[in-house]
Amino acid sequence: MVYFCRKEVILIFPWGNTRRFNSWADQCKQLYGSRVQRVSVNAGFTCPNRDGTVGTGGCTFCNNEGFSPSYCHPGTPILQQLDQGISFLRKRYKNPEIFVAYFQAYTNTHGSLEHLKAIYGQALSHPEIRGLAIGTRPDCVDEEKLDYFASLDRDYFITVEYGLESCYNKTLLRVNRGHTFEQSVKAIELTASRGLHTGVHIIFGLPGEDRIQMLDQAAMLSNLPINTIKFHQLQIVKGTPMALEYAKNPEHFHLFTLEEYVDFIVSFAERLRPGISIERFSGEVPPAFNAGKNWGGIRSDQVIHLIEKKMLELNTWQGRLWGY
Ligand code: SF4
Repeated sequence: MVYFCRKEVILIFPWGNTRRFNSWADQCKQLYGSRVQRVSVNAGFTCPNRDGTVGTGGCTFCNNEGFSPSYCHPGTPILQQLDQGISFLRKRYKNPEIFVAYFQAYTNTHGSLEHLKAIYGQALSHPEIRGLAIGTRPDCVDEEKLDYFASLDRDYFITVEYGLESCYNKTLLRVNRGHTFEQSVKAIELTASRGLHTGVHIIFGLPGEDRIQMLDQAAMLSNLPINTIKFHQLQIVKGTPMALEYAKNPEHFHLFTLEEYVDFIVSFAERLRPGISIERFSGEVPPAFNAGKNWGGIRSDQVIHLIEKKMLELNTWQGRLWGY
């Protein structure tokens, strides 16, 4: 849509504002009138790719310690973690009004239905928690668990977020992911068919993928019934099998420079369905955990600023090349 304001041309994009990508943060403000703030909780789940259920050793890039906020300890009761997290986030983000409990560490559907009910029931009993964001693997959900989440979704805001990491089975095998892209598609379809908010997570720069292969994933993901997407550039995290591999053969990896990443992500967003809201463009491993090159401490909001600047320079936007 195009509006003329005095002599300026103002573009309004399909997501209802002038930003050049469909921002999930903006969607939340429009839908709920406020920023929706996730409060991380570690409920002590393990991971089927570590405990032998589907594999051992875990994904080669994974070290959950590198991503856990300091207030998240599985030994601390869930309600106490939520209290601590909410008070921390209130100070940091100037009183956000809506909080959802974010189960991010490990695989948060890896347990019996009764166990999930006990964990998620506790989180939802917190007076300030309005919903759940449940991070998991595509091979660790079933109809029963998804029906339970759908029943909660009648009264709360429930998101199921799948780590896909790549659409290529060759890559998934290479990083010991332990599931296939076909399993990802099935889990997404089962989740979305219940009306649940469905999110996915992708890593760019995994070994063996070139720029064209990475860009081609935009079309594959656009065909799936997903609501939100998060992107991370590959970072080499200390204490992982990938860090050992990188130390031995750094030539097997191409870690994005900031400039390359901004350029790449703009091209990716151009190919992405405009209806998919982008929740995150990049990740930040704490410097103490970073075993590869880093971007000199640049924050994710600064990366967004550079991406939007680049989109403006190129006069492009999310979805401009979608379907071509
Ligand atoms: S990334 Fe997730 S699935 Fe892979 S090892 Fe880590 S916790 Fe397990």
